[in-house]
Amino acid sequence: MSFKDSIHLNTKLGYFEGEIPVNYQYTLGVAGNIFFKTLMEKDEFIASECSECGTKTIYPLIYCEECFAPIEKYVPIGLVGELYSYTHCYYDYQGIRHEKPHVLGLVRFKGVQGGIVHRIEVKPEELKIGMKVGAKLKPKNERNGGIDDIIHFEKV
Ligand SMILES: [Zn+2]
Repeated sequence: MSFKDSIHLNTKLGYFEGEIPVNYQYTLGVAGNIFFKTLMEKDEFIASECSECGTKTIYPLIYCEECFAPIEKYVPIGLVGELYSYTHCYYDYQGIRHEKPHVLGLVRFKGVQGGIVHRIEVKPEELKIGMKVGAKLKPKNERNGGIDDIIHFEKV
């Protein structure tokens, strides 16, 4: 078989239909664990704060994105932020149309880089970029340390 023949073999690739079971466990990482544990137990968001340059970030990090210094300080930033942007979603992630569109928004926090993308529960006529929104959390006994501990953000 020549080199040229082997190139043509690429057209004879086959595939098998079916499913491959993939069992995995996604970890939140060091800072993610601190974030969700704090949210679950203390009803507040935390940001990482760089001791070198002072940059605060949500979701928290273990290394500063600005100066690459290791981060060991995490500070509470409350549950209220500002609606930075939003969109109306007519379909869920499986492609099924919602009866009425959901609003997803990016919520940012004063003096903090990054933000949280989550469902926004505000009347359409009241939606406004820059409005104050606060996280509505599940009751403590129903939380599991994940993003769905936040039900949605609502007007405050
Ligand atoms: Zn830094």
